[in-house]
Amino acid sequence: MNTQDYDQALIGRFAPSPTGPLHFGTLLAALGSYLMAKKSAGRWMLRIEDLDQPRVVPGSADAMLYLLEELGFEWDGEVLYQSQRFGRYQEVLDVLRARGRLFDCSCSRREILASAPHPGEEGPIYPGTCRNGPQGGRSERAVRLRVKNETIIFKDMVLGRQVQNLEQQVGDFVLHRADGVFAYQLAVVVDDIDSGVTQVVRGADLLSSTPRQIYLYHCLESKLPEYLHLPLAFGQNDKKLSKRNGSFALIFRENGSSMLWRALDFLGQSPPAELFDWPAGELLAWGVENFQISKIPAQNRQITFS
Ligand SMILES: [Zn+2]
Repeated sequence: MNTQDYDQALIGRFAPSPTGPLHFGTLLAALGSYLMAKKSAGRWMLRIEDLDQPRVVPGSADAMLYLLEELGFEWDGEVLYQSQRFGRYQEVLDVLRARGRLFDCSCSRREILASAPHPGEEGPIYPGTCRNGPQGGRSERAVRLRVKNETIIFKDMVLGRQVQNLEQQVGDFVLHRADGVFAYQLAVVVDDIDSGVTQVVRGADLLSSTPRQIYLYHCLESKLPEYLHLPLAFGQNDKKLSKRNGSFALIFRENGSSMLWRALDFLGQSPPAELFDWPAGELLAWGVENFQISKIPAQNRQITFS
């Protein structure tokens, strides 16, 4: 491979939050991003999203890495920890501020609720109250990114064309919280840019964050990655499988290889039944060899473990 090929190689990533044991939904994101990267002989980077320190469960990052290794996943380069990059996030905030993109907001959640025109998908839409200087009642300040009344359009590799108007559907959004925590949207974009990530594969629960992240790429004058959002798995009680759902995590820990088979099946790759008992590493290699993006279903589905 010459230098030019390397420069153009695909770089994917998997970025779990260490807030509990690796569960089925997280495994889907690991597997989907891995198959997409490895099918194209690309690199697959690993990042631990431990931004919000009070939510971090001690030891869970190490447990995830150990389990991934056991299942045969091989990542490229050093594991990136967001908790070690706060200085970098501040640097980028300073750049955005110098470009006039940011403002300080002293609104409380209650004040925003009271003045927001109507609720958005993820809470009230920020109505721009503090754009010309803090107007709210709190002394703590969050830092918000000013959005424009323009429509963000992108094509998801599985879900197709997506459209969102940030001003009308989200509002100016927070990049640095009043409690001092850097916002997820900021950290993700800065990390992906700095790591040269060209392809973002993750769960569809993050689909509605993507236009905000695309807007940040524009503000930082950086080249966009391609996006693929994977279907979500629901448990029998019809809730999204989450880190709080201990039972699935427990089953997962007891039998990683069969969970990998189920994850391949969930992603539409139709692994033959006789592979169910295969060692995880061989099953994963089968997955890369036989992976077809066109077979990934768009619909979220229930999954039951017997
Ligand atoms: Zn405000």
